[in-house]
Amino acid sequence: MEVNKFGLSRVIPAEIKRDIRQQCGFGCVICGLGIIQYEHVDPEFKDAKKHDPANMTLLCPQCHSKVTTKMWSKSRVKLAMRMPKCLQQGYSNEFFDFPERNPSLIFGGVKLSNCKIPIQVANYALFQLKKPEYLGQPFLLSGLFTDSNGEVSLEIKDNEWKANSSLWDVEVKGPCITIRERHRKIHLVLTITEQCDILVSRLDMVFAGFYFEANGDYLKVTFPDGGSSELSGCVADNCNVGISF
Ligand SMILES: [Zn+2]
Repeated sequence: MEVNKFGLSRVIPAEIKRDIRQQCGFGCVICGLGIIQYEHVDPEFKDAKKHDPANMTLLCPQCHSKVTTKMWSKSRVKLAMRMPKCLQQGYSNEFFDFPERNPSLIFGGVKLSNCKIPIQVANYALFQLKKPEYLGQPFLLSGLFTDSNGEVSLEIKDNEWKANSSLWDVEVKGPCITIRERHRKIHLVLTITEQCDILVSRLDMVFAGFYFEANGDYLKVTFPDGGSSELSGCVADNCNVGISF
């Protein structure tokens, strides 16, 4: 384990990381991108005695390297720390990529493949997939996730995702986005698989009076009239609309 001259480990405890994510609005303080690295600003890690969120921030790899190579000054970072980009614009953002084929949407074990509109709720296309319009363009996904209060948490428009900066926690680790509504209350776990499918393994979402709950391999939908239905397995392949509620 790497430690500095004060014996401080490079490993930052999970709750300190969360504090830093929250104070930065879950993205790079300079540009708002959601793929981030944790950075000791002042003092730098080599001179730090502790992992203090007040002196630490989030930077995307590109902004980070501009600071490391001194193309940008430390003052640039400190200014951004006072006015984080995500808090100003209200979201952190990044892009999904579906280069090879139409991605399947796997919702708590329910697999929807080759559907233009994988899920439709109350006549609203909750998710939509568009084929590439020109050579080299990926498949394009648009869609919406709302939390258990019906507030928009993650919005996807033509592969660009935006996570609301007023959420309790958004954690992006490699291809996996985890959103928590509060301590130990997971709202969404979304992973882009190695096959470039979209896997929703956890979901707690209210939309238009419908309650969607996904955990592992089941999807439970509770309807506005109180009735409910549990779905699993492959329900749709090659349809215009996959499932409609
Ligand atoms: Zn950045």
